[in-house]
Amino acid sequence: MSKVIIVTGASRGIGKNIAYNLAVNGYSVIANYNNSEQDAIKLKEELEKLGIQIDIFKANVSKKDDVIKLINFAIEKYNKIDVLINNAGIAQEKLFTEITDEDFDIMIKNNLYSVFYTTRETVKYMLKQHKGCIINISSIYGLTGGSCEVHYSMAKAGIDGMTKALAKELGPSNIRINSIAPGAIDTDMNSSLTEQEWKEIINETPLKRKGNPIDITRCVKWLIEDEFTTGQIISPNGGYVII
Ligand code: NAP
Repeated sequence: MSKVIIVTGASRGIGKNIAYNLAVNGYSVIANYNNSEQDAIKLKEELEKLGIQIDIFKANVSKKDDVIKLINFAIEKYNKIDVLINNAGIAQEKLFTEITDEDFDIMIKNNLYSVFYTTRETVKYMLKQHKGCIINISSIYGLTGGSCEVHYSMAKAGIDGMTKALAKELGPSNIRINSIAPGAIDTDMNSSLTEQEWKEIINETPLKRKGNPIDITRCVKWLIEDEFTTGQIISPNGGYVII
């Protein structure tokens, strides 16, 4: 049986590209979405035209009960979860002193609690399987900090902290966990960037181009099949940040 992979936030952007390509490559993919139902249906239909099946599942991954339903769906249908890709996330640009309690709460719930819930519920099954792979999509801002995105940077750095700690705890159980920390990728999340701002980013990027969702998908595909990488923060960013 092919590997069973859950991709959170797969209705748009990076998550959609990951889900689409993994399904095309023969993996059994469960594509999670929350608000963008029509986009998720479109993803399913695009694949069906190629004769490829994918499951789409609505769940707000910032809510524990929804996460339990998502994980139960995977186990009831496939009886295993080989790979969890924590991709769902939100961003917000604000001056630090203007971040309200509510902004902070929403940011941490959607970017950090979500990863905690999905990972905890999945790891229960991966421990029984004595096998598993978890891939967290964090951000270069978790590594470098992003001005006017302090709450986002805090959440993403938190994800990377979890990656390192959990890799140590779960390594002996043959479960690998890594973060992919993308640079600027051309998705809805960056729709507020002007052409001039993109030009400036490209200018400061040694590889002299924008990042595309497929750049992240390639990294995901490698991590799924790799067997000796855990606890690492890998940053596909065109050289924009070199640590
Ligand atoms: P995007 O185009 O805005 O898409 C975000 C996706 O996350 C959507 O499919 C959305 O689903 C889903 N989502 C958000 N909150 C959710 C929740 N509570 N439950 C379930 N799904 C949820 O963003 P993107 O650029 O593809 O970003 C994907 C990931 O990469 C994020 O974690 C982001 O922080 C990270 N990242 C992006 C960049 C970049 O430059 N784009 C850079 C570094 C890191 P619905 O629309 O269905 O609600």
